[in-house]
Amino acid sequence: MLFDQIAYGPIHSRRLGTSLGMEIMPLEHKLCTFNCVYCECGWNEPINHPVLPTREEIKAALETKLRQMVNGTCENGKCLDVITFSGNGEPTLHPDFLGIIEDTCALRDQYCPSAKVSVLSNSTQLGRPDVVQALKLCDNRILKLDAATDTMMRRIDLPLNPNLTVQTLIQWLDQFNGDFTLQTCFLRGEHNGEPIDNTTPAELAAWYNAVGILHPKQIMIYVIDRKTPEKHLSKIPREEMEAIAAPLIAKGYDVIISA
Ligand code: SF4
Repeated sequence: MLFDQIAYGPIHSRRLGTSLGMEIMPLEHKLCTFNCVYCECGWNEPINHPVLPTREEIKAALETKLRQMVNGTCENGKCLDVITFSGNGEPTLHPDFLGIIEDTCALRDQYCPSAKVSVLSNSTQLGRPDVVQALKLCDNRILKLDAATDTMMRRIDLPLNPNLTVQTLIQWLDQFNGDFTLQTCFLRGEHNGEPIDNTTPAELAAWYNAVGILHPKQIMIYVIDRKTPEKHLSKIPREEMEAIAAPLIAKGYDVIISA
């Protein structure tokens, strides 16, 4: 599933409400630093010269959409809960990500002041100060940590940088002092003959430990919901997801379960 418009929707998201989607990666191509076994966009494909929409094109597409909404069914943009950056890959890879977020916040203030600006990110670019600065301007940072052991993170997310470690990801995530939503997809299966399961007692212990270090203001745990590129994956039942969330809820964490 790939997006072919810079600004699309609004769509109703089970996690975010009425959301105007922003696609700032190449249209009709996925560009990502992960190659997750469950990715709804499919496997990464080689792209020689990815063509990204420019900052100006993104600003124009968003302004057109917001104008249409305000002049149409929507009064002062009140029908819009959130402007969400996600889509065909990792939005923070855009070299003008900071400027794009600055433009977005300014347009939001002008047309739909009550709407939030949210970014879903795989956390791999948090070593870049401009990306951290941009994410701090947003209302919601939804940041991925699918497993807290290197072995399982690499099996699930297949990072393009094979030396990426969970320790690095945790250090980077810690820059937000807990002011973010931690997002984890729980799943079981196998890939290339290697087992995948981030719900074992050892994996969960490592993940709970990471949650304890990061203390995110919200935790979003979810299951595979659509066709996945790796066919040998299975969905975790709702009861198990509730059992995973229970110890965190007991400690006072805000946990959203999408299952
Ligand atoms: S981080 Fe997101 S876009 Fe990238 S491969 Fe994983 S699921 Fe797909």
